[in-house]
Amino acid sequence: MAKMSYKSGLPVAIGNKIYKTSQTRGADKDTIFQNRVLRNSTVLIPFRTWNKGAILLEEGFENGFIVLAYPEEYFEEIANDTSQNLTLGENLLVFYETRKDWLTYPPQKFGWDYAKSRTSPLLGQYCARVPDTTSETDQDIRIGFTNAASGGQGAGIRVYEYASKTTLELTRYQLAYLAWRTVGMYDLAISEGIATPEIYKAHVDEFCANNNLIDVQRLEQSRLIKDDITVCPLCLKPISAIELGSRLEQAEGRFVPDLTVTGANLFHVNELRTGLYNHSIYNLGWGHHHCNTVARDYGISPTIEWMGQVLTWNGYSITKE
Ligand SMILES: [Zn+2]
Repeated sequence: MAKMSYKSGLPVAIGNKIYKTSQTRGADKDTIFQNRVLRNSTVLIPFRTWNKGAILLEEGFENGFIVLAYPEEYFEEIANDTSQNLTLGENLLVFYETRKDWLTYPPQKFGWDYAKSRTSPLLGQYCARVPDTTSETDQDIRIGFTNAASGGQGAGIRVYEYASKTTLELTRYQLAYLAWRTVGMYDLAISEGIATPEIYKAHVDEFCANNNLIDVQRLEQSRLIKDDITVCPLCLKPISAIELGSRLEQAEGRFVPDLTVTGANLFHVNELRTGLYNHSIYNLGWGHHHCNTVARDYGISPTIEWMGQVLTWNGYSITKE
């Protein structure tokens, strides 16, 4: 038998969904971030967080990091201060994000070239993403990390999106563990031609057991599972395999008029926040698309509190068991 992986035996759409969790979310071309790349890519650290003691991983970042400083920050706080441990073109780039900066500190005045590499040496000193203005003569300025020659669009990923290769492997297996515990997963797998789903589930269970990924109490406290059934971290309703296999994406700007089609997607229990690495084990589960949308900005507890208030304001009386 071929070597088994986290996705062996799972319906193809679900295996792909798990794989995609290893990638960062989509990024627009007018930003400095890479679009859907592996979470162990080069990390971009804004100087203001670096200066405040950005959380650096003891083991380092697998593909390094780049600190981005605005021109004013560079000249006033970095250029003459060796204690910052930042060297332009090595682990630091000047980043132009406003037209005012572009005009006040034109890079050619300092003999700077645009950066071409994501790892040291960066083969340049700056990059730019300055939006278009309403003026007819002004155009957007996009310089550095814009095309295939520099390995695609974007200089790197957000700090809080980072996860090491090992973490990615562990989180994928934990998500597969949860996928096998959605309602009706055996039937769905069998309908996709998998004769013996239990063999593949057993492989995932064994891997997870060997890697300390099945602390039931922790899984339940994180609202990922209840009585060995995978639940949505917000509403706690069991997730069905069909929902998980649904192609309904966490659509950005896409209107989904049919509310009965409830897709289930990756759900970060503690949302992604700057300064924390939240793509980690025991923090990822499967949640309803709609629940994810509501809880994403506030977090689970504040969202539930808010929902209670909404009901109260609408004349419902609520008592907690
Ligand atoms: Zn839900």
